[in-house]
Amino acid sequence: MTPLIDPFARPISYLRVSVTDRCDFRCTYCMAEHMQFLPKKDLLTLEELDRLCSTFIRLGVQKLRITGGEPLVRRDIMTFFRTISRHLDSGALKELTLTTNGSQLAKYAGDLAACGIRRVNVSLDTLDPAKFADITRWGRLPQVLEGIEAAKAAGLRVKINTVALKGFNEAELFDLLDWCAKEDHDLTFIEVMPMGEMGEELRLDQYWPLKDLRARLAERFTLSDLTERTGGPARYVRIEETGQKVGFITPLTHNFCESCNRVRVTCTGELFMCLGQEDMADLRAPLRAAPDDALLEHAIRAAIARKPKGHDFDYSRQKVAGQVSRHMSHTGG
Ligand code: SAM
Ligand code: SF4
Repeated sequence: MTPLIDPFARPISYLRVSVTDRCDFRCTYCMAEHMQFLPKKDLLTLEELDRLCSTFIRLGVQKLRITGGEPLVRRDIMTFFRTISRHLDSGALKELTLTTNGSQLAKYAGDLAACGIRRVNVSLDTLDPAKFADITRWGRLPQVLEGIEAAKAAGLRVKINTVALKGFNEAELFDLLDWCAKEDHDLTFIEVMPMGEMGEELRLDQYWPLKDLRARLAERFTLSDLTERTGGPARYVRIEETGQKVGFITPLTHNFCESCNRVRVTCTGELFMCLGQEDMADLRAPLRAAPDDALLEHAIRAAIARKPKGHDFDYSRQKVAGQVSRHMSHTGG
């Protein structure tokens, strides 16, 4: 089986799959309060998701990240995790992981660990309950903290993902850092991206460049760049005084495309070859056209052959260029 290699000689070894567009939160930078969700029939069934992921794994994907929307609110999602984990047992898949808002972790952490999941990314932008309720609109901080506790107790390594928002969590930078150190969680900051239809003004208002955040950290600590690369937009530093590792995801200000090893599939089976480009391939039609995976494999290969060299996001000149209209919850962040 020839593995998936794109036209720029980048092997595709990492797949992110959104299993639902629905969510129990309405984070202001991610969703409108009243979202129009997709009809259920448009979503891939759990069996289709399994076929799709298994085909990618057969074609060389070694790392699978499940996301959404909120993956843990999809009905019967544990059935999916249990069945797809056979590829961990066989050794074909090296890592199965998920990104979650943490609201359902208290319920599922043990089951996830039993499926061979070792790490989870939990999104958490503030440790202040009132601010948490503000930014997530529907979320409640204690529920998420309880979920994080449960994940830790189940032996899962937790990475906290924090979207850097000017005027919102700026003042909490060191509190978040201290809390993660105390709880032994990794911490990664994400620069806010121009997704969905939020007003342009609001986004520029909230935009807190991570180089500024990093400079703030450097006022108090000695930061050493780490060479570690994941093939994605994350860069890491070590805080010499504490030994803590901190990640920065700067899709807008950093060009990470040359080492890109990943593609994304939406919950309706659209394969996006690049987070910042509109081009996509429909995988649902080939999935539904035949019970075997030949058509699907052909569609995947044809799409990877069109993977672009890079993205067009750009906040320069104080306007949002290269904005893509779909929401993060649709593509799967
Ligand atoms: N619901 C899960 C969660 O919140 O972790 C998984 C899906 S969520 C879309 C994945 C990640 O995307 C979260 O860490 C979230 O903070 C981030 N995100 C959402 N909208 C974003 C935006 N406009 N810019 C940057 N990150 C965003
Ligand atoms: Fe839901 Fe995650 Fe989007 Fe927040 S960031 S609304 S938790 S999908």
